Amino acid sequence: MRNKRNENSIRGFRAFCKLLPVVVGVLAAFIGIIILVNVSNPDKSGIEMLSLLKPQIPVEPIESAAEVFPDLEIQEDYLTVNDYSRPGDSLGMVKKIVIHYTANPGSTAQANRNYFESLATNPVTSASSHFVIGMEGEIIQCMPLNEIAYATKEANEYSISIECCHPDESGEFTTATYNRCVLLTAELCDYYHLDPETDVIRHYDVTGKNCPRFYVENPEEWDMFIGFVKDYME
Ligand SMILES: [Zn+2]
Repeated sequence: MRNKRNENSIRGFRAFCKLLPVVVGVLAAFIGIIILVNVSNPDKSGIEMLSLLKPQIPVEPIESAAEVFPDLEIQEDYLTVNDYSRPGDSLGMVKKIVIHYTANPGSTAQANRNYFESLATNPVTSASSHFVIGMEGEIIQCMPLNEIAYATKEANEYSISIECCHPDESGEFTTATYNRCVLLTAELCDYYHLDPETDVIRHYDVTGKNCPRFYVENPEEWDMFIGFVKDYME
């Protein structure tokens, strides 16, 4: 009886030993797949965090972009300080320039700026941007550059946002909007000592939102945009 029980437990142990490599193999494969998925599809905000650690040269905060970059003929039309579009909180060191599209085809820069203003009295959401660039290339500055905008969630505290108008659903900028966006981005990078390769980002790169749509759906177009910003700076 006792021998039989021993035999049974030995058999059980052997069966377990035979199965062990299979279990370990399956586990290893599972972990491998998880690692592979993460490497091939890196968490954007992870990359974001790393590049935030770069040492940066401190610069004098800017309020009026029109004063610092007179050639860009920026129109100043500041929002009223309010909880939904211009909280009045101060922006620390600028580490990123974030590009957006308005997601409202055919709307003008002024209409988008006025929409942000309307949130003060009709707070359906929180939204704003430091700049809106219109389809004719006009640039409106909606708040001083030393204040945070409600544009890019967790990146609001260290970034300047540029909203770009667009004629249709594709989200592609007009040539005028595109060129002015390149110039403004390059001037800002130059002033804040930012590297376009790592410090000019899309809203998508922070939150995964499909913004600016055309430049998320066509990554080669985004690379080209960054290339133009770099060219302009050189
Ligand atoms: Zn956006």
